[in-house]
Amino acid sequence: MTLLEAVKQRPLLGDGAMGTQLMIAGLEQGNCGEAWNLTHPERVLAIQRRYAEAGSDCILTNTFGGSRIMLNRHGHASDVAAVNRAGVAIAREAFAGRPGYVIGDIGPFGGLMEPYGDFTEREVREAFLEQARALVDAGADAIIIETQTSLEELQIGIEAAREAGAACIIGSMAYDVTLDGSTFRTMMGVDPERAGAFMEEHGAHVIALNCGTGMDMARARDAIARYRRVSALPLMAQPNAGQPKLVNMKVVYDEAPEQMVGGVVPLIEAGAGIIGACCGSTPDHIRAFRQAIDARLSERACKDTHA
Ligand SMILES: [Zn+2]
Repeated sequence: MTLLEAVKQRPLLGDGAMGTQLMIAGLEQGNCGEAWNLTHPERVLAIQRRYAEAGSDCILTNTFGGSRIMLNRHGHASDVAAVNRAGVAIAREAFAGRPGYVIGDIGPFGGLMEPYGDFTEREVREAFLEQARALVDAGADAIIIETQTSLEELQIGIEAAREAGAACIIGSMAYDVTLDGSTFRTMMGVDPERAGAFMEEHGAHVIALNCGTGMDMARARDAIARYRRVSALPLMAQPNAGQPKLVNMKVVYDEAPEQMVGGVVPLIEAGAGIIGACCGSTPDHIRAFRQAIDARLSERACKDTHA
């Protein structure tokens, strides 16, 4: 069953944070976590295996910064294909033979395009296409273009994924709650209705949100509900585990699994078909989500038998 077929049948569980888990595993701030797919594959595998064991149906590859433009900042531009291929292989191995979906992860290229920045649209397009091709050729079940704030970059990512032959393309925006707390939009001023309609129009198969500032489970639920008003496509949410705080010179996130888990069923009820979590979340968060989703599924099965 493909990811798109599965998500239409039942809610799927995504995974949790990779970046903060890499730090716990010894990656230093500012170093290249994606290069670990080649230099420390066993550490990446150990993190993803914990997510698989916690019950994830979908695992994102450790390739957030795996585009040529991002890798070039760390002197790894010649490793694009290898880093992304290894990323898919490690995520697949994490499932240890059981069925699961590997989602090839493409994060922002990390700069601005002309006329605001130094990068031409063509450079970004080529970088995303090269990365998407490596991920698809290695066997990724889907491509996610994530933590996006601008529709221009998102569109380039979606088109690259399509050109690479991705069977399923997920577009995922990062929203920030506004200063007065009344609503949320991306850093570039995009709201969920506009993003959702735009993604459907440009050929995404799943409309998602992840990360962002102040986007807790309740806000993520609002974003999903707002997506649902403009599109009938499958929806996905990966909120952060609360807010980052500095404790003993270490960044920690303040929402425990038991705080986040209450938001899982409301997310499903609002229309989310894939639920995971972003920065600061851990295998414990994902395990709690698994229990909430399973409880909900068995409740539904009970109701069906009594009907
Ligand atoms: Zn995040």
